[in-house]
Amino acid sequence: MPIAANKAVSIDYTLTNDAGEVIDSSAGGAPLVYLQGAGNIIPGLEKALEGKDVGAELTVAIEPEEAYGEYSAELVSTLSRSMFEGVDELEVGMQFHASAPDGQMQIVTIRDLDGDDVTVDGNHPLAGQRLHFQVKIVAIRDASQEEIAHGHVHGEGGHQH
Ligand SMILES: [Zn+2]
Repeated sequence: MPIAANKAVSIDYTLTNDAGEVIDSSAGGAPLVYLQGAGNIIPGLEKALEGKDVGAELTVAIEPEEAYGEYSAELVSTLSRSMFEGVDELEVGMQFHASAPDGQMQIVTIRDLDGDDVTVDGNHPLAGQRLHFQVKIVAIRDASQEEIAHGHVHGEGGHQH
């Protein structure tokens, strides 16, 4: 059963950056389980896995536009500390949920603190980076109607609800 839309797929993976540093890996833990065709994983990886079967091993390099997007300087802005009322102590690297002008939730990261100025960055931490995946396909099954309706996988390795 090759990977196609609406299959629940389990993969072991290691993600490295251009410098060869490991950013994320399923090694030592349970495989990642996702629903193909539902945007659960980045588009480039979904495309690379389409049509592959259990046991297949792939090494793929994915450009930013097929991963977390290009880095956008427009997403960096300077806010006043008063915008962070209720936060005891601001630190570089802290992340907050914020709503973007289009109403979508995004995560912003504090990049710099200077007096009353707080510089925040709404880019995904991996924006602008080429990503290298080593993937082994562990299991493929048909997703249930409920999983397809929800757009994610249930049970072990998936959503528990
Ligand atoms: Zn669900």
